[in-house]
Amino acid sequence: VAKNHAKLAGRGGLQFFHQRLHDELVYQLDLMERLEKALDRDELSLWYQPQVSAVSGRIENVEALLRWLPAEGAAVSPAEFIPLAEQSGLIHRLGDWVVEEACRQQAAWRAAGCLVSRIDINVSGSQLTRPDILERFEACLQAHGLAPGDIGIELTENVLIDADHQILEGLRRLYHRGVRIAIDDFGTGYSSLSYLKHFPLTALKIDRTFVHDAPKQPEDRAIMEAAVFIGHRLGLEVVAEGVETAEQLTLIREMHCDLVQGYYFYRPMPAPDIERLLLGRVTAHQGRAD
Ligand code: C2E
Ligand code: MG
Ligand code: MG
Ligand code: MG
Repeated sequence: VAKNHAKLAGRGGLQFFHQRLHDELVYQLDLMERLEKALDRDELSLWYQPQVSAVSGRIENVEALLRWLPAEGAAVSPAEFIPLAEQSGLIHRLGDWVVEEACRQQAAWRAAGCLVSRIDINVSGSQLTRPDILERFEACLQAHGLAPGDIGIELTENVLIDADHQILEGLRRLYHRGVRIAIDDFGTGYSSLSYLKHFPLTALKIDRTFVHDAPKQPEDRAIMEAAVFIGHRLGLEVVAEGVETAEQLTLIREMHCDLVQGYYFYRPMPAPDIERLLLGRVTAHQGRAD
């Protein structure tokens, strides 16, 4: 920013720069106000993306992904509003809502005989700064009559760099109860690998940028192979994210990844579509694993 600032100022564009900054802040503030209202008005929902077995193509788990479809206006991507919600503090209410909604959905699916072995939710670093977050998670599982294995959590590497003793203890307790804990976007954070030995983890999700480039770039393939090796040696399940093509899938299978997630199999979808899939009323995608 400082560099752009200087460049623009040098060209006599300082005023223009201030205007842009101002507009951006106004937009962000407005977005957060609208997001807060959306929470009150129930305009948020969770969509679910299946994770399939790399071997059989069978649906194993689903990842819950937040969706905001405002009553008026276009959908806003979580990649845009989650970072803002983290800054504004709204992430806490948002995170509570996600936990509650995922638990409610899993309990409803169980009751309907729609067997999703696990729903994984994304938890961001700032959520873990609230001391009682993990207790609340456990309480929510209990309130819905769920077992600890029914809902898993995904954390990014950066969360673990900032993690203090209390977070580590909280994660250990969840782990020992049987909650599954995955590292999301593996390989893209700023961390050293040493966190892998300090944190209680059950799975590693290889970031989709590696998957995307693997067919053409030997470096990406090498990194993926190393990630699968290290994951398996540590007893972790290895998931490949963002799989879009048959070519990528072939590589992933050769590397012995355990689970695959990506548009090649399924896009994120609303809960009723998951039900149609799992209750066998739709067979369109089922031959894709061939
Ligand atoms: P993520 O947890 O890494 O989720 C995977 C993202 O990749 C999702 O984007 C998903 O729709 C997208 N994706 C899945 N398969 C493919 C594929 O084959 N190709 C491509 N190009 N993309 C694919 P989405 O839903 O936009 O979410 C973006 C990020 O927002 C998530 O990344 C996660 O970090 C965050 N997020 C989403 N929901 C929540 C939430 O409930 N809580 C928190 N804290 N963060 C969330
Ligand atoms: Mg995720
Ligand atoms: Mg990811
Ligand atoms: Mg991501």
